[in-house]
Amino acid sequence: MAGNQPRAVNTKTVGVLALQGGVREHLHSFEKCGVAAAPVKTLGELNAVDALVIPGGESTTIIKLAEMYHLVDPIRDAIKSGMPTLGSCAGMILLADSIEGGIEGQETFRGLDITAKRNAYGRQVESFETEVQLSGHTAPFPGVFIRAPFVQRLGAGVEVCAQISSGPHKGRIAGVRQGPIMAIAFHPELTTDTRVHQEFVDLMREY
Ligand code: GLN
Repeated sequence: MAGNQPRAVNTKTVGVLALQGGVREHLHSFEKCGVAAAPVKTLGELNAVDALVIPGGESTTIIKLAEMYHLVDPIRDAIKSGMPTLGSCAGMILLADSIEGGIEGQETFRGLDITAKRNAYGRQVESFETEVQLSGHTAPFPGVFIRAPFVQRLGAGVEVCAQISSGPHKGRIAGVRQGPIMAIAFHPELTTDTRVHQEFVDLMREY
């Protein structure tokens, strides 16, 4: 490529699955990172993006809507073909190969070799904020945990990239990465700290 042409990475767009949940917040976080981001509701919109975010919300609702909109298989195929994918909270559940505490027959998009336990810290009122240690970062990340899952089983090829670093849940896995897939148990999009989104942007550029 000629030196005066923009690098292709600058034209990449992150899609945020926009069926339910914290869509706008993720779009905003990527804007703050200087990266184009667009909602994804249709197959055409899915095909137009270079990476995908499955936001937090309610995993049972998101998968039901994805089934209605015929997006389950296309999203599974995109993940299988190596599309960089970030899941937060419900998104972590929806990327897990297996789940615990799901409703009868609850499906996921799969791809991440973990077992995610739904509502692992209790009910909505037991939601909490705590410090999280992100791999490769010194300053703690403000982790917002809302009926969050935790990682019950970690597959051999999955690395831990975030851990709760204070309070009663210290040591719990709060984020994992397997190749181009990243899943975070908390809600980085609800804070002003963009380090998790930036990490994902770096990962997208790597793949
Ligand atoms: N408990 C929710 C679920 O199972 C996830 C909560 C969230 O995304 N904040 O989908």
